[in-house]
Amino acid sequence: MPELPEVEVSRLGIAPHLEGEQIATVVVRDRRLRWPIPDAVEQLAGARINEVERRAKYLIVHTDKGYLILHLGMSGKLRVVPADSLVVKHDHFDLVLSNGQCLRFNDPRRFGCVLFSREHPGIAHPLLVELGPEPLTEAFTASYLHTKAQGKQQAVKTFIMDNHVVVGVGNIYANEALFKAGIHPKRAAGRVSLARYQRLVPIIKETLIAAIAQGGTTLQDFTQADGQPGYFKQHLNVYGRGGKQCMVCKTELTEIRLGQRSTVYCKNCQR
Ligand SMILES: [Zn+2]
Repeated sequence: MPELPEVEVSRLGIAPHLEGEQIATVVVRDRRLRWPIPDAVEQLAGARINEVERRAKYLIVHTDKGYLILHLGMSGKLRVVPADSLVVKHDHFDLVLSNGQCLRFNDPRRFGCVLFSREHPGIAHPLLVELGPEPLTEAFTASYLHTKAQGKQQAVKTFIMDNHVVVGVGNIYANEALFKAGIHPKRAAGRVSLARYQRLVPIIKETLIAAIAQGGTTLQDFTQADGQPGYFKQHLNVYGRGGKQCMVCKTELTEIRLGQRSTVYCKNCQR
């Protein structure tokens, strides 16, 4: 599943090809995504694209006629290709540009979405209005997390994965960041000290930045017809390593389910 770093790299890959261009037409081959593609997207014909923004795992295409909202779901991919290039299975949607190129959305599992909003979706769309801060902005700090966690019995791992608290900390990143910070994933969020959140927050940021930097090497793939901008291989200390030795202390790593998500930790290194 694409996580925040993959979505950010998708934005970096497509934005230079879209910004400043005009939309000629919109092609909907199959509306049946997670939510049906609304007729309103057709209003974007003739619009000028000003900017491509990312908010959580949504991409927002700003135009002078409204906002296109894209989500990659489980298996969505975006490419910029000539508008007349061969259409393959699951190419559900094209945003055709006046320069002959198009932004093409392919999604075999159809959990992604293509939506329209007249106003900026950050203030007007129900999917986006209640999202917490972006993890890579100055709004996401240890004191913010510590204040937000006051009195919460919820496990700290579930807490940092809650999009209302902070967006884009997926399961792999939550497992890895808690290991590096030495925090037990089941510890109540309200019983993690400010000092420990001060250790955790930069680790979350560094982990996401490293993944985005790694994905930067795949940017040209967005304009290749067979390009498959992939999921970034990363060095993992705990995720997927339940039952194996901790890389720090050699203790056998424990794997549990927490909020239905695989959770791996070292009972010696994480308290
Ligand atoms: Zn250990």
